[in-house]
Amino acid sequence: MKTIIFLGAGASKSEGAPLQDELFFEYFKEFSTDDKYYNILEEFFMKTYNINVKDAKKFPKFEEILGLLYTAEKRRESFYFNINEIKEGIIFSMAEILNMKLINYSKHHNQMIGTLKRQGLINKIILITTNYDLLIDSAILNNNINVDYGFKNFYRNNNNISLPLYKIYGSLNWKYCDVCDEFIISSGETLNRLSENFSCNTCNNLFKSIIVPPTFYKEISNYYLNNIYHNVNKSLYEVDNIIFCGYSFPDADLYIKFIIKRAEMYKQRPFRVKIINNYEGKSIEKIEIEKKKYELFFNGEVIYEKISFQEFSRVPQQYI
Ligand SMILES: [Zn+2]
Repeated sequence: MKTIIFLGAGASKSEGAPLQDELFFEYFKEFSTDDKYYNILEEFFMKTYNINVKDAKKFPKFEEILGLLYTAEKRRESFYFNINEIKEGIIFSMAEILNMKLINYSKHHNQMIGTLKRQGLINKIILITTNYDLLIDSAILNNNINVDYGFKNFYRNNNNISLPLYKIYGSLNWKYCDVCDEFIISSGETLNRLSENFSCNTCNNLFKSIIVPPTFYKEISNYYLNNIYHNVNKSLYEVDNIIFCGYSFPDADLYIKFIIKRAEMYKQRPFRVKIINNYEGKSIEKIEIEKKKYELFFNGEVIYEKISFQEFSRVPQQYI
């Protein structure tokens, strides 16, 4: 039986990634009007939120803004701005700030994959993540393992092992053509290249990013995301163990809850669930609330490990 390791925002945070609501603050602190999207985003924040980006400390969450833009797009209603331009700008700025802060540095993710490889456990693992950043992708590639994103094995060189990594809300290194379904992908080092405007070789259409806000997950029909969804769903029937790392099980991820619950009902055995969500200074109240949330949701055993993702990444074999 395989094990699912499910990585949430806390796993990225352990590497120093800014949280959702810190992303724009960091972007406007680090970048200036030389940056391609700076002026566009400055105008957007002023008009939409009355926020002066030069001295603002608080910004709305990345996912909330994307949610507004997707609403306009999906309903084909106007939203003052050029939706596509703002959407690309929002995603581009996030890619840039994440790139600057951490893209080449994934200590714990790297350690986890390295240990799993040494222990001969790679073919026992399925990785699922809600994160768009490239920490886990680059950790897999650094260990000379192919990434299987669940639609095509883009990194299938001569190397023989590959690790399923299902990024359910998309990834910063993916771009696709919404006319002919052409797709491009890059590894960590060339992320910036994908931030530029690329045109499709087949139909000259501009490539678009694939990042989906959780609340819109099931409404967005994209060939690649549908394949991932299919694989995530299938994988739930191949495992007995799920290890949640740095994942708070938020209400917004309703669709994830739905497919997990459905699998649990159809399977013969309930999932064995482990939670790796501790960090220094975490209050007992918070731990209790989180623990209850998981226990209430799952039918089977839920073990709340008192360790952090950093500790887990050193000895993952002990929990699998
Ligand atoms: Zn095309």
